[in-house]
Formats: sequence, C-alpha cells, structure tokens
Amino acid sequence: MPVYFDNASTTLISPNALKEYENTALHYWGNPSSIHSFGSEAKKKLEDERSKIADLLGIKSNQLYFTSGATESISLFLTSLLWHEKGEILTTKIEHEAVSSLFPILKNYGWKITYLKTKGGKTDSNELKEKLNPDVRAVVVMSVNNVNGALLPVKEINDQIREYEKSINHKILLFSDSVQALGKTGFSLTESGVDGASFSSHKINGPRGLGLLYLKNSASFRPVAAAGGQEKGKRGGTENLPAIAAMRVALSEWMEDTEREKRAKQINSYLREELKKEGFRINSPEDASPFILNFSGFLPSEVYTRILRDNGFAVSSGSACSNNAKGKTEVILEAMGIKNADGKKAIRVSFDRSSTLQEAEDFIKVIRKNNGKH
Ligand code: PLP
Repeated sequence: MPVYFDNASTTLISPNALKEYENTALHYWGNPSSIHSFGSEAKKKLEDERSKIADLLGIKSNQLYFTSGATESISLFLTSLLWHEKGEILTTKIEHEAVSSLFPILKNYGWKITYLKTKGGKTDSNELKEKLNPDVRAVVVMSVNNVNGALLPVKEINDQIREYEKSINHKILLFSDSVQALGKTGFSLTESGVDGASFSSHKINGPRGLGLLYLKNSASFRPVAAAGGQEKGKRGGTENLPAIAAMRVALSEWMEDTEREKRAKQINSYLREELKKEGFRINSPEDASPFILNFSGFLPSEVYTRILRDNGFAVSSGSACSNNAKGKTEVILEAMGIKNADGKKAIRVSFDRSSTLQEAEDFIKVIRKNNGKH
C-alpha cells in the first residue's frame, strides 16, 4: 500500500466513525424536522451531537451549524453580506478558492475587495491599521494556509479590529476559514474572537459532505436563503445526521490524542532537515502547522509527484498549473514572498495523526535515491 502523505486534501475515515455512521443511519433515519417518533428521535440525537461537538470546540451549541462542507459554510457566511449595505472587505491573496471565488459576486454587488499583504505568511499590523476605515464591514483571513501550512495571526487581527471598532459605529465581522486548523493547531474559536469560521469533517478522518459553520452571534446572522428553515433558519436542507455523529467520533479521537501535534512536529522537523541536506527549498514558514510541509525540488511538480507515486508515496503536486498560466500554488507562495520559492516545482506533503516517523524516513530514502538523477 502506498504511504499517504496528502492528508490536507482528505483523510481516511476512522473505523469508529464509520461504525457510528452505520449505527446512526440505521437507528436514527427519520428526518429531524418530522413530528412523528422517527423524527423526534432523530432530532434528539441531532441536538445531542451538536452539543457534544460544540463542547469539543469549546463553544455553545447555539453557535454551531451543520452544512455540506466547508465550502458551503464559507459561502453561507460570505453571501450573507449581500443583505447588508455594501462596503469594503479586507482579505488576503492566499485564501482557498472556496473563499476567493466568492469575491467576484460581492464585487458585482458593489463591495470593494482589498487585499492585505501576507509576507512570510503573515499579515502586517501596520498595514491593517492603515487599511481599516469606516467602510470596512468584514475581514476575511484564513487560520492555516492549505498550501504550506502558514499560520495567520487571526487573534491579533481580531484584537486590532475590536480596538478600531471603538472609533466607528458599526461592527466589523471577522471570518476565518479554519479547515486546516481543526485538531491540528492550537487555534481556539473563543480565544481568537472570530465572528465566523468554517471547518470540514473529511480533513480529520470524518466522512465527506459535512462541514461546520461557527457563528459567534447567530442571532444577527441571516443567510441568503433560509430554504426549509432547518438549523434555526440559518441553513436549509435535511441534516446529514449519520455524518454528524461520525464526525463527532472522529473529532473526539483527534482531541483525545494529546500527542498528535508533537508527533507531527517530529516528522515535520525531520523532513525539513533532510530535505535541506538534499538541496531542496522549504516553502513553509518555520512556525507553520506541523501537519503541512511544502518544498521545491529540481523538477516540475507533476514530474516529481509521479516519481514519488511510482516509489509508493501519495503527495500533492501543490500546483494546479498544467500550462503556462500561473498555478494556484505559485500565486500563493508568491503572495507570501517566500524566498526563492519555485511554485512550479512545489510539492506538498501533509500528515494525519497516524503518520509515522518511519514513513518519513522511507520518504527520504526515496528522495535520496532519485536526487541527482536529473
Ligand atoms: N478551505 C480550506 C483551507 C481547505 O483546505 C478546503 C479543502 O480543501 C476547503 C476550504 C474546502 O473544504 P470542503 O472540502 O469541506 O468543502
């Protein structure tokens, strides 16, 4: 079996989560909105799961909403801005497409989108200070970048926004796409102070098709369409109860594994050192999430990804470019000003809590074997 080092893309479902999925699908298959006993049993289970997941996240259950994935969570939050009078959004050029692809529509409705610099994978507080003005209604900055694991200073941004808010008479919403942070960094919803955040079940060994939307103050949140009115009118559509229960199991397994970050750090530091010795460039900041490591070699990403595949490693090319157009990885690394990064040659390896140092050692053996052959 090949070694899977592409966990930032998706992860293998946990066997216990899968069992819980089956159990819930078989025993709580009623629609939580139905008033008969099948429905009320499902509703009880839904609220029980909501409160358990909220506990794991350190938030209140009325701040947690279930969606079909982080992409939908992001879309719900950002498109809700369309109800408000237009204004300005401060964001970055390193957001995931689930975020950045919504800006054209907001622009179309008169919103101004302003990009903050992200040198070294961080925003700059002086620049934020300069750019905050009375038109700003929202700041959208991810917690952990999915290409190279860069950690954004979300809490500091929040503190700065709250200070600035005292001088104006409206609230500035802070939204953070936190998909790559869940279970993998010390990111805390309450400490960071964000107004909204998105998470995804399939990045932490839960099933696909389930996302979380955190709303600090849900009372003031109005989605573009309430549809069937589920999720207290915040997100319409029948709730995916088996996936919700399964994700709760997967998330508790991550949280109970208190050594997970330590192990990922060990793997990450080992790879950094060995890759540097082989002459590779490291494109992840020193303080990046230990679960993601991006580096550039000597060959185009696609070629190197294939060499690694043929030697038993599943990694991500980290680049979507197949022609002369600039790939996403290149754009993102450039926007971070990562020194000497070569996006066309970038490789991303990303780990699960079950990844081992032995796998990393075997990876380096393959790298060494193929180094110098080009
Ligand atoms: N945001 C980031 C940072 C991601 O890495 C991903 C997944 O690739 C998403 C959003 C989208 O998540 P989902 O697949 O749950 O829609």
